[in-house]
Order: sequence, then structure tokens, then C-alpha cells
Amino acid sequence: MNIPGAENVIEFTYLIATALFILSLKWMSSPVTARRGVRAGEMGMILAIAGTLLSHDIVDYKWVAIALVLGSIIGVPLGLVQMTAVPQRTALSHAFGALCVTLVGTAEFYLRAPAVPRFMMAVLSLEVILGALTFTGSLMAAGKLQEVLPQRPITYKGQNIVNLSLLAVAVAVAVALVLHPEKMNLFPAILAIPLVFGVLMIVPIGGADMPTVISLLNSYAGLSAAAMGFVLDSKLLIIAGALDGASGFILSVNMSKAMNRSFSNVLFGAFGQEQITAAGHAEALPVHSATAEEAAAILAAANKVVIVPGYGMAVAQAQHKVRELYDALTKRGIDVKFGIHPVAGRMPGHMNVLLAEADIPYDKLLDMDVINGEFPQTDVALVIGANDVTNPAARNETGSPIYGMPILDVDKARTAMVIKRSMSPGFAGIDNPLYYLDRTLMLFGDARAFVGDIVRELGGPRQ
Ligand code: NDP
Repeated sequence: MNIPGAENVIEFTYLIATALFILSLKWMSSPVTARRGVRAGEMGMILAIAGTLLSHDIVDYKWVAIALVLGSIIGVPLGLVQMTAVPQRTALSHAFGALCVTLVGTAEFYLRAPAVPRFMMAVLSLEVILGALTFTGSLMAAGKLQEVLPQRPITYKGQNIVNLSLLAVAVAVAVALVLHPEKMNLFPAILAIPLVFGVLMIVPIGGADMPTVISLLNSYAGLSAAAMGFVLDSKLLIIAGALDGASGFILSVNMSKAMNRSFSNVLFGAFGQEQITAAGHAEALPVHSATAEEAAAILAAANKVVIVPGYGMAVAQAQHKVRELYDALTKRGIDVKFGIHPVAGRMPGHMNVLLAEADIPYDKLLDMDVINGEFPQTDVALVIGANDVTNPAARNETGSPIYGMPILDVDKARTAMVIKRSMSPGFAGIDNPLYYLDRTLMLFGDARAFVGDIVRELGGPRQ
């Protein structure tokens, strides 16, 4: 369909969309501007779709309209999940995106074959291989995080060699196709082998490493989209795919660093294989527990309190009660700060987003490196649903699976109080020696209910 002057409008729209994507990433790097970043990304995507709809290559809008309606019907409920389910939700988005890239790549091959120029065949192969392995890999990752598949890593001898050989065969077939694109019957191999590789790649990775892997799959999906940009001659796709690929990769590196793990350890280390439950220890070692009334009295007597939130606060949706606690304590003149670990929760920035939602001032949220120096002068470190990120075994026990991971030094505070429901371990599946220290008080209960009880004891708002 030819719309006069459409080409210029499309180019201009794409230019603005590209600028918005870049600004979006920049703004999302700080909690203060993150909302603006999300809006910029949304605007960029709307402009990209609008520009594409003007394209003269579209011969019939009927199918586009059907796809838009179907996509909205599936997409809207998917967007309404709880914050704690965002990692698996993100994995599903990658799976859809990667499937789309793979299908477009396959269609383009059969439209162009057998006379496919070498460069085109190379980018087509890259697009299809990365797209296919990202599709099945992301579905596996979502399944593990949703616990519909076993979270435990499944390993066997020679697994890495088998997996990498499989990938090498796919690459070898792609090279053969680049040299001889007329051998069209080779093409299904670069589709099928990566689909199998995607599954096998995720099987040996434990549930605890899934968020890092999802971020890596994000990067693969971006690179395959960039490759599709070359195939479809779309500069916007090349730029957006490259931004996605690079940012996903940087995020994975940062997450690995925050856990003090190497990339190869995340991908091949089968972390979380030996689930060491706390149950045995809980029977052998006594812990000190306290009631909400006792906890409130200790907090009321403190001058300086550091609150350390974790995954349990997110699951319990306790952030608004935490805000009430913050108000009740600051009203009494107590200095209250928050210690934020880079991998607290299930995705980077998880705690910042939740606490921002409850309007806790940003300047009270301090990064681990900053707050760690303050724990020795802290009267009470109040841990709310965090576990692994406070585990001193990471500092002291060389044999611990999380040894070397930087932690929040809550054990250095004068008193540590921990709100959690039981002695169950955290995501890494290991016991936490913090709970058995003389100056640690366990506050057993659901995070939202327990914090609400403390607030009531402090004379704050009633539930
Ligand atoms: P953890 O998973 O270590 O611990 C969470 C604790 O919350 C559990 O011990 C659980 O104990 C408690 N809990 C669960 N539900 C509730 C509830 N309703 N009320 C009160 N407590 C509750 O969380 P952390 O935030 O300390 O650590 C994050 C983990 O995730 C780390 O191992 C990190 O490496 C991993 N990870 C994080 C990533 C990220 O980007 N953020 C990426 C990759 C991995 P109980 O059942 O007894 O209540």
C-alpha cells in the first residue's frame, strides 16, 4: 500500500524511537528517573510500531489487526503478574520474541533460497540459531522459575562436551549453508539443533541462577533481533537489538559479580545441586526468638536502625507496612536507613522498586558498600525476609557454596532481628549461621503481619 510521503515520516518516526530507546536505558539506571525511562521505552515502542504500520510493504491490514488484537489479549494479563513473578514473566517475553525472530528468519530463507548471498546467509543463520536456542531456553527457564519444572540442576558426566558439540554441529551446518546456500535441505538442522540445545543448556543450571541466565537469554534475543535487522534491512531493529544484547550482557555480568561468581560457574557450575536444608541445624542449635512486643521495645530504645529487605518482603508484599514502620521510628527521632544488596529478591533493583512504590525516600536506600561500614555503629539491624544476602558463611566458611559472595554485614550490628516464617533456607538452599548468634533474635511470622504488629506496638496506624 503506497502512502505519499510515508518514507520520510517512517524514517523520522524511527529516529525518534531510537533516541527514546537510548534515553530509556539511561533513565532506567537510577531509581529517581526509572519511571521516566519506562515511559520513554513505551513511547519508543509505540512509535516503532506506528512507523512500521505506515510501511508500503504492508499489503493487507486485516492480518496486522488480528495480530494486534490477539497480542493484546495475551499480553495484558501477562503484564498483570506479581512483582515476584517478573523473572519468569520476562523469560516468557523472550521466548515469544525469539520464536518470532526464528519464524521470520525461516520464512526469509525459504523466500530467498537458493540464491542467498553469503553475508545474508550468515546473518540469517545467526538469527535462526540464536532465536531457536533462546526460544526453548527461555521456556525452560520460565518453567524452572515457576516451579513447573524441577529447580534442581540435572547433570551427568561429559554433559558440557555433549552440549557444546551440539552447538558446534549447528555452527558447522550454518557455515556449510553460507558456502552452499543451494543445499536447502541443510536448513532444518540449524533450526532443530539449537531448539534441542536450548533445552539441554538450561537442564544443568539450578533455579537460583535462573535470573542471571534469563538476563543472558535477553542478550541472545537482542542479538538475534539485530541479525534480523540486517536481514530485513531495518536500522531500527539493528539498533534496538544491539541495545538489548549489550544491556542484557552487562546486567548478567553485574549480577554474576554481585554473587562473586564467574560466568562459567553460573552456566556450568550446577549451583544449588546439594540442597543443604536448615532443618538439621535447627534441631541441633538453639535460636533466640522474640515477640512483636519485645521487638518493638528494642526498636524504640535504639538510636540507629538499619532495615535489610529481601525476597520474603516482596512475597509478603510488606513494603507498605515497612513504610509505616519507617514513619513510626523516624517520628521517635530514630535514624532509620535501608541496606540494599544488589541481588536481594529475585532481580536487580527488586527492593528499590518495592520501596519506591511505598514512597520511602531514595536517599535512605543505601547500597551494600556504603551501609556495610555503618553496621558496627547500628543498634538494630532488622532483616525482613532476607536470608542469603545476610549469610556470614559467605565471608567466613571457605567450603560454603556462596563463599566469596559479598553480603550485608548485619551480624556486626549490636542486635540483629530477623523476620521470617521458619528456619527454612533461602534461595541458595543453605543454612544461615546468623540465626544462631547470641545477639540475633528470630521474629517468626509473615513479614507483612509481623511488621504490622510491631507498628501497632509502637503506637502506629491500626491494621
Ligand atoms: P532468600 O531467597 O535468600 O531468602 C528469602 C527468605 O524469605 C527465606 O529464607 C524465607 O524464609 C523468607 N520468606 C519467604 N516468604 C516470607 C514471608 N511471607 N514472610 C517472611 N519471610 C518470608 O532472599 P534474599 O533476598 O536474601 O536473597 C536473594 C537470593 O536470590 C540470593 O541467593 C541471590 O543470589 C538470588 N538471586 C537473586 C538475583 C537478583 O537479581 N536479585 C539473581 C539471581 C539469584 P521462610 O520460608 O522461613 O519464611
